[in-house]
Amino acid sequence: MYIANFTNIGIGEEIIKEILRLYVDLADSHGGFGHGCDRSAFDPFHFVNAAAAADLSEHHLLDFDLLRQGAAVSILCGVYDHWCEVEDFSKESAWMTNLRMALSDGTFTYVPETKAALEELLHHNPSFSDAWVAPLFQELYDLYVASYFRRLAERSAEAHRMGAQALIRKAPPLVVYVDIDETLIRNVGRSRIPIPAAVQHVRDLATQGAELYCWSSGGAAYARESAREVGLEALFTAFLPKPQVMLDDQPVSTWRRLVQVHPLSCESETVASYRARLSRPLPPREPTEER
Ligand SMILES: [Mg+2]
Repeated sequence: MYIANFTNIGIGEEIIKEILRLYVDLADSHGGFGHGCDRSAFDPFHFVNAAAAADLSEHHLLDFDLLRQGAAVSILCGVYDHWCEVEDFSKESAWMTNLRMALSDGTFTYVPETKAALEELLHHNPSFSDAWVAPLFQELYDLYVASYFRRLAERSAEAHRMGAQALIRKAPPLVVYVDIDETLIRNVGRSRIPIPAAVQHVRDLATQGAELYCWSSGGAAYARESAREVGLEALFTAFLPKPQVMLDDQPVSTWRRLVQVHPLSCESETVASYRARLSRPLPPREPTEER
């Protein structure tokens, strides 16, 4: 049995590479066990009970689960090949002798599902017409091989999610200026009616992390009161009057990083859709650009 220590750790690492090659062959060629998979030359009986030396922690050395389960999968491949070729587990061979010895001496402690399956196969000695054999192997494939790839995919998806979140956190907030009259509130005679879609849109933008400013040609105080009227006051960073004079070298109509949206067509928009619109490639640079 393989007992890993700092001197022979390289052997375990090499065997894990062989196991991964076998896993890929199983997944790629058959999506399960198949005849003649690439088991390479290592002796799986030597590794199925692998452990760390007494004074070492398994955790620091190798993926022992992968090593033991991979060795079990290699043994199962050998059994599957034997069955495909001979269709008789009572026929003795060096391979079958090894297997029977391993089953009787506690070799499969870490992979009890393999032990149970092997005992069942040897006990019933099934023929090709026994329909329970294929599901038995498929279950073991799922338990050891497919679940290994699933774990990798989950880990990679998690890393991707975290990376994306980090990027979102790093991006400066989207700055949005919101008007009052006929945008958030409709004035009909003396009544003032909130415009639900626009009010909800402002709430959604706040939830999505936008930095919101409220302005009105009625002045800053009017903007604040109106925002309070429709329950949005707390979501705005500041309230401003609309400008009457702008001192700027670029006409507003030429600002390249500005999107104007009519309140009637804002419903399906999000911070992401605005960002997408703003990040479209610019036409060739002109000598000066807005700041
Ligand atoms: Mg207006």
